[in-house]
Amino acid sequence: MSAEKMQFQAETKRLLDLVVNSIYTNKEIFLRELISNASDALDKLRIELLTNKDLVDDFDPEIFVIPDADTETVAVSDNGIGMTREEVINNIGTIAKSGTKDFLDKIREASNAAAQELIGQFGVGFYSAFIVAEKVELITRKAGTTQGVKWTSDGAGEYEIEDCDKETHGTTVILHLKPEFCGDDEYDFTDVYQLERLIKKYSDFVRYPVKMSFSVKGKPEDTPEIEIRTVNSMKPLWTRSKSELTREDYDEFFKQQLHEWESPLEVFHVKAEGTVEYTALLCIPKHAAYNFYYTDYEAGLQLYSRHVFIMDKCKDFLPEYLRFAKGLVDSPDLPLNISREILQKSTEVQVIGKALEKNILRQLGKMLKDDRAKYEEFWNEFGKSLKIGVYNSMFDSKVKDSLKDLLLFQTSKDNKFATLAEYVARMPDFQKKIYVAPGKDSAAIERLPQMELLRDRGLEVLYLTDPVDEFTIQVLHDYAEKEFQSITREDFDLDDAESQKVKAEVAEIAKSHEDLLKDVKDAIGDDVKEVRLTSRLKSGAVCLVTGEGGPSLSMEKTFANMKNPLFKATQILELNPNHAVFKKLESLHALGKDAPEFKDLCTTLYSLALLIEGVLPANPADFAGKITDLLTK
Ligand code: ADP
Repeated sequence: MSAEKMQFQAETKRLLDLVVNSIYTNKEIFLRELISNASDALDKLRIELLTNKDLVDDFDPEIFVIPDADTETVAVSDNGIGMTREEVINNIGTIAKSGTKDFLDKIREASNAAAQELIGQFGVGFYSAFIVAEKVELITRKAGTTQGVKWTSDGAGEYEIEDCDKETHGTTVILHLKPEFCGDDEYDFTDVYQLERLIKKYSDFVRYPVKMSFSVKGKPEDTPEIEIRTVNSMKPLWTRSKSELTREDYDEFFKQQLHEWESPLEVFHVKAEGTVEYTALLCIPKHAAYNFYYTDYEAGLQLYSRHVFIMDKCKDFLPEYLRFAKGLVDSPDLPLNISREILQKSTEVQVIGKALEKNILRQLGKMLKDDRAKYEEFWNEFGKSLKIGVYNSMFDSKVKDSLKDLLLFQTSKDNKFATLAEYVARMPDFQKKIYVAPGKDSAAIERLPQMELLRDRGLEVLYLTDPVDEFTIQVLHDYAEKEFQSITREDFDLDDAESQKVKAEVAEIAKSHEDLLKDVKDAIGDDVKEVRLTSRLKSGAVCLVTGEGGPSLSMEKTFANMKNPLFKATQILELNPNHAVFKKLESLHALGKDAPEFKDLCTTLYSLALLIEGVLPANPADFAGKITDLLTK
């Protein structure tokens, strides 16, 4: 096939723009990325050979890094699986990750430092070549085929693809370096020793030899001899004993092994020699990947058997709610050619998984106790995952029990995080239930009229600001035998004598105002189930509460955003009988229940109650008109 000029997919183009106009301060990262792609390609071929022995004649996996000062290039070459023309187009010209557009928009708005952090989470992989290269050539041949393919691009929107000859299967990526990266004092990527240092630093544990040619110095008059050396140690870190490893060793390892751009928050090195023998090296990253909460995020651990890589993204070890944990498991009890299907049913995997789950939960508990700041850092990134875990454990009280003490909620007490145990310990004697309030964020909850009384009485409220919180609370049902009670539910009640007294007084007023309440309800219509008087307001005139059983208003909003408007909250409008507006309502009611002034006040009060909850009235223009009228009266 002849040469073709092709356009990068729009997202790829934008990403490349970012990389080329490099927001990356770390210029060295490209080498690690290319070596790691090479190593993945070798893995793929090795695994393919397990079932298709004749694919290639003999397989002696290796990666070569070849600098050339004359042509100002550096090449990374592997004899791995290679790519067909179609694969090159799909893999190199397109980004198939969902959420890419959102991510790129976010980057555009971010400051430089924040942008770097974001792009690190995204991982630019192959495109990192354009940080240092003005032109990149990729020459590849798929194992088992005879036709080579050459891909060339300067990273500016287009690439060229053409057939070419290639002697062996595998891929060679040639970077034509920008002038500042060859010969400059700081960076010279055509210098063998600089490259050697980088390989040792970033790719030491790569499981295939990374080789380079070195000229052996003899007498000046001799032609220099060339010696090929393997630069990386290849010794898997996890085979070394814990006592000889430092936190820095682990940090570097995870960065290399998992293409992470920053050190992890927490590391776990577990060795076991019981019924099943295994070593696991896990970590919790500092930041959730940009698509962590998207469905296409692929969680899972790497699996090794006797230090040989078997597969990536094994989901069978850890439960869904611990999917933030990354790393690897190496076990001699698992066969090399195990398939994903067999793995799922393997008792060894279950035994290892259970042990790892326990271990991670124990460590998290310890972190919560000993290093609260660090735990909160973890919680901000991955707390949602544990909360979803509780929700999904509806029928598994064991999971619920092991997670409930790891949950944090923001509370009205200084807006800080509290565990449920901390909250319960602070409850005054008369308080029988755990008060919770749903809302968009803590500021929105603090503005709820229902909060005023609780604030006055010094009662603490847990804020449910994440849509999943309400579900989590529902599944938990209670903590330390104290039920959860939403302050925006119809049956909310303070349990002390004083509140009971006020409640009785309000009930008296309600009795003598039955007609008024019925007429307010009729004026508003079917949007509310009931209109009643309340003792839960102090200076507020109205509030909305929701009926038992159904969703809260904020949950309803979440469902509406998810285009599921069927899930409706039952609304009850509550009026404060001690508020001047109530007196006004009474006097307008005296004009007759059909008097426009009375009806207008009723619907306006309902709209106000909706607004307090952050819900727009059904007809905002109409509402604005009524407010304007009131202002000019
Ligand atoms: P990632 O490695 O995170 O998938 P990259 O942008 O680095 O992203 O690479 C995109 C894809 O291109 C890889 O998933 C792989 O399919 C293919 N690829 C890259 N480098 C090589 C290589 N050396 N050999 C074979 N395929 C490769």
